[in-house]
Amino acid sequence: MMWETVIGLETHVELSTRSKLFCGCSTAFGGAPNSQCCPVCMGMPGALPVLNRAVVDYAVQVGMALGCAITPVQRFDRKNYFYPDLPKAYQISQLYLPVGRDGQVEIDTAAGRKTIGIHELHMEEDAGKLMHDPWLEQTRVDYNRCGVPLLEIVTRPDFRTAEEVVAYLEKLKETLHYLGVSDCKMEEGSLRCDVNLSVRPAGSDVLGTRTEMKNLNSFKAIARAIGYEARRQMEVLEEGGQVVQETRRWDENKDASYAMRSKENTQDYRYFPEPDLPPVVVSEEHKQRLLDSRPELGEEKRRLYAQQYGLPAYDCQMLTSHRALAAFFEALVALGTPAKQGANWVMGQVLGALSARGLAPEALPITPPTLAALIRMVEEGRLNRNTAVKVFEAVFDQDGDVEAYVAAHGLEQVRDTGVVERTVAQVLEEHPQPVADVRAGKEKAFGFLVGQVMRRLAGQGDPQLVREVLQEKLGEG
Ligand code: ADP
Ligand code: MG
Ligand code: ZN
Repeated sequence: MMWETVIGLETHVELSTRSKLFCGCSTAFGGAPNSQCCPVCMGMPGALPVLNRAVVDYAVQVGMALGCAITPVQRFDRKNYFYPDLPKAYQISQLYLPVGRDGQVEIDTAAGRKTIGIHELHMEEDAGKLMHDPWLEQTRVDYNRCGVPLLEIVTRPDFRTAEEVVAYLEKLKETLHYLGVSDCKMEEGSLRCDVNLSVRPAGSDVLGTRTEMKNLNSFKAIARAIGYEARRQMEVLEEGGQVVQETRRWDENKDASYAMRSKENTQDYRYFPEPDLPPVVVSEEHKQRLLDSRPELGEEKRRLYAQQYGLPAYDCQMLTSHRALAAFFEALVALGTPAKQGANWVMGQVLGALSARGLAPEALPITPPTLAALIRMVEEGRLNRNTAVKVFEAVFDQDGDVEAYVAAHGLEQVRDTGVVERTVAQVLEEHPQPVADVRAGKEKAFGFLVGQVMRRLAGQGDPQLVREVLQEKLGEG
């Protein structure tokens, strides 16, 4: 039997507003346990939530970027369940009237372009964090994360491979990153993924019974969990068994998943409209204002770089791999650097220097004016390419003054024809054999002579000029 894997994703994204969804507490990561809480986010009786409008703006911005229809009048609902990380014993979420519905995300894989449908996205509050201490046989709870705003983005069951899932998550991360609404750090839990997966006979259009794997927090874990779970379900079915609809936990250390609990239904949560919060109204004007203030997305920048600057697809991809890098490149171009030159320097030297130092593009020490000045000196023939790379390395960390550095170290290219001619004459005199070789048609010897002249000029000769003068003098003999 040929099987087909079917996957749908639920992704939780922590939004990077400074304060929580329904109170003024800080959302900062890594604070001392229970130092960022108040009666509202700790669920004290009688404490009332007040909506943080910045969260709505972020959520609507994401909804529009994902092509969703935004719900003009939204509501919050209570999702009731008891768990020690949830002090109110209910989570404020949106079930009936979420932020938006029916969007799509374009992904690119080796197999080509494909559209993944977005079923819906909604706002909800995060829960606290439980810390189990097996030695003391204790569990402690940190409520700092309670009430941190989350956006849950639910896709249609449109994925067929792990590769598609990873491409989608990368695209989603890019979109969130360009919008500036989340830091998307999987390792800090600000982007978490539940994978719903079923298998069915290839060609069938009926969905099989699915399982859900919770809180996968790396691309590697997601890809491995998908491979494992698809094989497990196929084996169950091939042996004549039935897949049980359940929630499973992926154990990264054991490279296997195991059943956690049978799947709960919507009814189990006894959802009902949240009585303590008014409806959320998003007008057409408000959406337009958000659109007008929206930063360009990676996809839009790639199109622009290709059309406006004529850059190849590879360059467009590399330059937009990070928002800070794209901004740096655009600043270079705005300072008059030819686009292709700028692109080459950013993709070569800038990325190289960052990775050698283990720096993120946001932490780039060199500024666009410094690199633009350096590139201009090369363009004007005042620095040769090799020397410019050395100057770049020298000024990178302190954003040093290129002109001053070049002057202080006497690095400017020797373009004085008189100096070059004298040097060439000396070299020709000292190396009669290579000179004879060149005249006998041995090209290699010419390169040798160029090298000798450059050496005498301490590497600062203008290579073009050196070649010209050499050719001329050799022709004379
Ligand atoms: P719930 O709210 O119970 O988690 P939903 O119907 O909202 O369930 O679906 C959750 C996710 O599971 C969605 O991403 C959806 O695309 C996916 N999904 C639903 N049914 C299947 C299935 N049979 N196989 C794979 N994925 C599925
Ligand atoms: Mg679910
Ligand atoms: Zn609070």
